[in-house]
Amino acid sequence: MKRKAWGAIIDFDDTLVETTIYYDKAKEQFAAKMSELGFPAGECLEVLNRFDINNVLKCGGFQKQCFPNALVETYEYYTELFNVEFCRHTRKWMEDLGWWVFEQPVELIDGARETLERLSLEIPLFLATKGDEEIQTKRLQESGLKDYFRAVYIVPDKTHQEYLGIANKNRIDPGQSWIIGNSMKGDINPGIKSGFNCIHVFHHNTWDFEEEEPEGEYFSVNSIRDVAEIIFKGL
Ligand SMILES: [Mg+2]
Repeated sequence: MKRKAWGAIIDFDDTLVETTIYYDKAKEQFAAKMSELGFPAGECLEVLNRFDINNVLKCGGFQKQCFPNALVETYEYYTELFNVEFCRHTRKWMEDLGWWVFEQPVELIDGARETLERLSLEIPLFLATKGDEEIQTKRLQESGLKDYFRAVYIVPDKTHQEYLGIANKNRIDPGQSWIIGNSMKGDINPGIKSGFNCIHVFHHNTWDFEEEEPEGEYFSVNSIRDVAEIIFKGL
């Protein structure tokens, strides 16, 4: 018998499309540049991460300026620490490197489209993503995945209240429904807390800000391709 009040809320970044790889490429270039300037590359990356997380917290979410600003702030911090002259051109280089991340073409994760295609025939799909509204809207458009979703939620933070709000609005019952994503912090833990069934989709590359200890039971898969089988089991 088909269940009536079910739905699946799916994450976007690093679940359906590559995201962190571009940040990592930018960080590599940043480290090389810092090293060239005589600063300690490894330590700079840790400082960068702290500025980045701090900016996200200050903005109350992932705003597009957070990462470019963090690169500039780290550069500034080291020029002061090492008492060397601050160079406007290097500042600009840092900022541009931050924006470069958002200019990269949207690359689907292997199996993402096929999985949405298959799921959407049976179960209403909802997309929930953090991030900058303008950038995420554009990336979703470019991904060609938008039409698989009944509704799209771009939220400042993914909390259990957000998920319960989505469930209420769409009259889905969390106990019969699913949350699918690569982040313990943003997908799985708040999903567990709000009573959803959760599937953690491993991605080789997840920002450590998204890591957390699991707070309950959940399914774990290595590829988005394995999601449908879990959801349709027992139907
Ligand atoms: Mg994600």
